[in-house]
Amino acid sequence: MYVTGGLGPQATNEGFTEDYDLPNETAYAETCATVALAFWAHRMLHLDLDGAYADVMERALYNGALTGLSREGEHYFYANPLESRGRDRRWAWHRCPCCTMNVSRLVASIGGYFLSVADDGVAFHLYGGVSAKVGVNGVRVGINETSAYPWSGDVRIAVDPETPVAFDLKLRIPDWARGASATLNGAATPLDIARGYATIRRRWSNGDEVALNLPMPPERLYAHPNVRMDVGRTALRRGPLIYCVEETDNAGAPVQRLALPPDAPLTPKMRDDLFDGVVVIEASAVRLAPGDGEGALYSATPPRRETTPLTAIPYYLWANREPGSMLVWIPELAGSNR
Ligand SMILES: [Zn+2]
Repeated sequence: MYVTGGLGPQATNEGFTEDYDLPNETAYAETCATVALAFWAHRMLHLDLDGAYADVMERALYNGALTGLSREGEHYFYANPLESRGRDRRWAWHRCPCCTMNVSRLVASIGGYFLSVADDGVAFHLYGGVSAKVGVNGVRVGINETSAYPWSGDVRIAVDPETPVAFDLKLRIPDWARGASATLNGAATPLDIARGYATIRRRWSNGDEVALNLPMPPERLYAHPNVRMDVGRTALRRGPLIYCVEETDNAGAPVQRLALPPDAPLTPKMRDDLFDGVVVIEASAVRLAPGDGEGALYSATPPRRETTPLTAIPYYLWANREPGSMLVWIPELAGSNR
């Protein structure tokens, strides 16, 4: 599985090859496969409430599946590479229109993935702005959840049963969230986490409110060394989102020349001017230039490392502006040697 939740690296068999074979530029990672992964993870979750399934579902939804659809919802990717030289554009239609339908029905059904109800409890899998009426232990319970997820890990859940009723409220603590904390009616409450869910068991009454905090600092991910395409490279993640660098945010020059020093701080920044408001990740990076100054194909002088700002956007949003190069796995190199 790609870090985006993409599945199946090869186009010729629309499927798998050998272990750890995850090429980035030629990744097939068909939209359908990631949509199906989300469906499968959701059904496994209903058989067996284990956060490992929800983690896969969330990774697929927010990254490898969502990128199959353009932001305005009218263009589709069939293959979802993790690197591009700028020629990849979404289709208006496809002679084999499987992905168009699958990603459309996934997005149309998105409200069904956020929470599940059992006779004796409610489980929250994904977070967002959710308003629902559910039946628990024979009582109608209003759920009103507010958050700016995935831009923020602050989540507030108001619980309003018609009459006081005891049940388990289960909050998913994602695999990426370290140091999660919660309050119940303003007072800190310890998180009893088992198999990816924290359970709060009590007699709920009108006006009760749970606040969950999932810290989401940007972080670097590294692939297993057997993934030969990703050796010496790092991918950026914040919360459930995998990030990429795209040419238009990075000096309009090929992003394949960028490298990220291992000690460069990663700074999240809300950008209201981009896509109606997204959190980007900023860092001080290096851009490689020919070491001999001549641009010879081969030179005994290593490339120069020029300091340059780097801006990464959520992967699912790439290829929504002017065509340009894109990269998920960024080479990791120490800073300027000028
Ligand atoms: Zn398809």
